[in-house]
Amino acid sequence: MKKAFGTTCLFCGKIAETKDHIPSKNLLEKPYPNNLLTIPSCDYCNKSFSLDEEYFLNVLVEISDNPTLLAKKNFGGNVHKARERSKGLKKRIEDSLIQGDDGKIYFQSETDRIKKVIEKNAFGLYFHKYQKVSRLESFKCVGFYPFSVEETRPTEMFLLTYTEKFKPKKWTTIQNDVFSYIVVRDWRRGNKLSMIFHIHNSVWCIIEIPYPSSTKSKTLKRLNQLTVFD
Ligand SMILES: [Zn+2]
Repeated sequence: MKKAFGTTCLFCGKIAETKDHIPSKNLLEKPYPNNLLTIPSCDYCNKSFSLDEEYFLNVLVEISDNPTLLAKKNFGGNVHKARERSKGLKKRIEDSLIQGDDGKIYFQSETDRIKKVIEKNAFGLYFHKYQKVSRLESFKCVGFYPFSVEETRPTEMFLLTYTEKFKPKKWTTIQNDVFSYIVVRDWRRGNKLSMIFHIHNSVWCIIEIPYPSSTKSKTLKRLNQLTVFD
């Protein structure tokens, strides 16, 4: 991995030895888009996300009907390889399949790990969009909606991502049909900002994000040598 000396880890403030991909690389498909976004990260923080990112992908393939994702479970696929490598992971996924009262099989994932991956990605995209660092804790994943839950997007997702005249708001696509996101004003929370992810045509995620201060106040902060953290 490319060395990024002289910068600090955006997660913890220590020296950054690595760059972390945003979105997490295992959520994208090869060939990767040009100019993948990265954020400076220390080795420790970078590694601390990687198992959760692997877990996230393992969950995604269980709840999705997307053939691209399902193929990862086949011999030679990323998910197949990960499960062969880690029997613990394989068992965790098997244990997550719960039989419901209606006889259907439901997937019960480790929510904290899912949230951690989503929030880290929101943090990174926010940094690139606003050139601003906020504390990781101020990004809160408040919704994770697999497509199987509802045929179409959940109602609130529709309302948030369409204008009052029912025109779709503009999404930023990182990779077609794989990863896109949008920032919207969330009237349910006093018009605060929410970020929404649309991943692999399989899940919607919604994340509460901090409001980026105006450029003016950012400049003032820098002049006064206050911290770059909110
Ligand atoms: Zn760090």
